[in-house]
Amino acid sequence: MYKGRRKAVPGEGDFKAELMFIGEGPGREEDLQGRPFVGRAGKLLDELLNEIRVERSHVFITNIVKCRPSEGGKDRRPTKEEVESCTVYLDRQIELINPRIICTLGDTAARYIFDKNNLRIAPLSVIHGRAFKVDGRIIFPCYHPAAALYNPQLRSLFSEDFKALRGILNASIIRSGGRTLDEFL
Ligand code: URA
Repeated sequence: MYKGRRKAVPGEGDFKAELMFIGEGPGREEDLQGRPFVGRAGKLLDELLNEIRVERSHVFITNIVKCRPSEGGKDRRPTKEEVESCTVYLDRQIELINPRIICTLGDTAARYIFDKNNLRIAPLSVIHGRAFKVDGRIIFPCYHPAAALYNPQLRSLFSEDFKALRGILNASIIRSGGRTLDEFL
């Protein structure tokens, strides 16, 4: 996979972030820019962050795989081997940033993070927007933004889920002795 890439996309954001987003893997635009979620799905993620008034620069955004998986110029799902070889980097990112909340975007990310934390995975239709607490950290699975691009129903579910995510983030900031998000408005 790395052979066909233009740029690796390790992730970006605040190294002290309370909240980390994990997607599946870079697409065409991310591969060109070397930054995560800067294409169409990224625009939707930006919109959702705006809705809950959370700055993109205050969170950390990354992916399960760090190079674009593609076939004949089209995006494809990463293979099991690709996931295995990239997640050593992701594991280290989680260890170093140590976010209080991990929001997984899509089922590749949910599956990996659930397995890693010995949680039993279920379809996203069942687990999206729910908080799973493991070792003092919250795992919050969401659909992948790309899935909501053409589906208005999913789009409004996303807004609901992000509202809940904001509440969780606020509670976590208060617990760690910080000021609430609203105090910054
Ligand atoms: N989709 C992802 O899963 N990650 C990105 O960075 C962009 C699109």
